[in-house]
Amino acid sequence: MDLFEYQARDLFAKHGVPVLAGIVATTPQEAREAAESMGSALFVVKAQVKTGGRGKVGGVKLARTPEEVEQAASQILGMDIKGHTVRRVMIAEGADIAEEYYFSVLLDRSERRYLAMCSVEGGMEIEQLAVERPEALARIPVDPDEGIDEAMARRIVDEAGFPEADADAVAAVILKLWDVYVKEDATLVEVNPLVKTVDGTILALDGKVSLDENAAFRHPDHDELEDRDTENPLEAKAKEKGLNYVKLDGGQVGIIGNGAGLVMSTLDVVAYAGEQYGVGPANFLDIGGGASAQVMADGLDVILGDPDVRSVFVNVFGGITACDEVANGIVKALEILGDAATKPLVVRLDGNNVEEGRRILEEAAHPLVTIMDTMDGAAARAAEIAA
Ligand code: GDP
Ligand code: MN
Repeated sequence: MDLFEYQARDLFAKHGVPVLAGIVATTPQEAREAAESMGSALFVVKAQVKTGGRGKVGGVKLARTPEEVEQAASQILGMDIKGHTVRRVMIAEGADIAEEYYFSVLLDRSERRYLAMCSVEGGMEIEQLAVERPEALARIPVDPDEGIDEAMARRIVDEAGFPEADADAVAAVILKLWDVYVKEDATLVEVNPLVKTVDGTILALDGKVSLDENAAFRHPDHDELEDRDTENPLEAKAKEKGLNYVKLDGGQVGIIGNGAGLVMSTLDVVAYAGEQYGVGPANFLDIGGGASAQVMADGLDVILGDPDVRSVFVNVFGGITACDEVANGIVKALEILGDAATKPLVVRLDGNNVEEGRRILEEAAHPLVTIMDTMDGAAARAAEIAA
């Protein structure tokens, strides 16, 4: 999960990384009030979107007075930055910058370790720097068992080429950033720019943090960092019910299956079968292993809630949960949903107890349900109905 800058700032502050005051606002009026309450000689109004390069497109503006803050906020709110609409701005205390540096630490999956990167030439051109003068960006592998201790922080600072006078202060901030990385279970902590102000203070002026969702169980407080405004409402509903639902662009066939492998191959056969009609998968939902009637009902409820869906392909391979239980699940799910079930279902069952499963569905004879014997046949039928 990627965080907004203001959320990264809060995590930095929590772990003692030096940051400046910041208040989030959603209207120009609020922005002005935030500035009035902060009472600084310099403010920065910053678009809060989960993409970089805001500075280059006018998403970061300096302001001297609350009036200027209000004006800047009215320009930035509603802006589109690389497909992200700006709904919030952060009003930050402005810094008097002497130098802009760069620091990041991330998970290097291919090398099975962490990677720290650091440069004395930070700022908005860091990507260009990495390409044109890679030697100016120090890259230091970090052993996961050892992490970044004081000696390692010094090594990073030295390899980046910091002058001796600043080395200790920067190394101390790097240690705090490592604390954020480890204690919050992050996969990325990036600060660009890390600055030295004219009075010599080191500050994290911009922060990008990605948290490892696999570690969410260790961090109940991370739940509230989720951005519910821009999340797809059906994905949110599915997540709430513990289902894996993914919306796809441009398709009309809803897909429910059990197990990631089966669901992926179902996507393929639907895409293939739909080609001649110009239809394809609209979404997919994995109900997982032991799919009870309630899980099937929840799954169907989510899939049927997608307005793009014109037909649903339910593709289940009975294993530990046998086909008869799945069939009962489908029948009960349709009962639970009642009038909410409005779109045709094409069901293909195979595996453990398949005969009994089919018999149950045939006996129920629900008008919306078509039973098919093979996966290809079912995909073709679902595509045809959708077309
Ligand atoms: P990004 O472009 O999305 O990475 O946004 P940043 O937060 O990094 O801001 C872009 C640039 O704005 C920085 O590199 C700084 O040069 C400038 N900037 C940001 N905050 C301040 C500040 O407090 N004071 C000054 N003078 N400049 C700032
Ligand atoms: Mn930045």
